[in-house]
Amino acid sequence: MSIDPALLQRAENACELCTSTENLTAYDVAPETGAPIEHTAVLCETCVTQIEGSALNADHWQCLSTSMWSQTPCVQVLAWRLLTQQSGETWAQDLLDMMYLDESLAEWAKAGLPEKEEENDTPTRDSNGAVLQNGDTVTLIKDLAVKGAGFTAKRGTAVRNITLTTNPLHIEGKVNGQQIVLVSAYLKKV
Ligand SMILES: [Zn+2]
Repeated sequence: MSIDPALLQRAENACELCTSTENLTAYDVAPETGAPIEHTAVLCETCVTQIEGSALNADHWQCLSTSMWSQTPCVQVLAWRLLTQQSGETWAQDLLDMMYLDESLAEWAKAGLPEKEEENDTPTRDSNGAVLQNGDTVTLIKDLAVKGAGFTAKRGTAVRNITLTTNPLHIEGKVNGQQIVLVSAYLKKV
């Protein structure tokens, strides 16, 4: 695949992350914004393989200590993502601490970050620590005054077919025909 000469010129005919001159390709930095040249970086095969694969080689990515200072926005975005993915390691976190992205670049960088598994790591648990799932039936372990609905949900009330929320401390379910948010810690899985 041929690379736009303007891109190659910007990249000085080298990988914009590690300066290798081998097997260069044009790499789209997702999500694409602006003109192609703005969201396309010139990368070598090694960099692309690691970015698209699942393992990052810390030795290779020491190159980020230089390329993170690139004047090219999409290269800054790539460097930030790669450092963030490796931020469990001191060297990467140290570099990340020094890095500054303006707001729009930071948004772009975050938008393309591979989803972290730990975001959904925290399970929703009932009062006994049992993990709750969508569709479970629970009972209330105490009387709960339902704010705004004008009734008290009595202890022992069964709530069928609950729905988890983004907050592990809360679930949603129907009580007295009304969809309400309930505190997981006041529930017991049936
Ligand atoms: Zn490279």
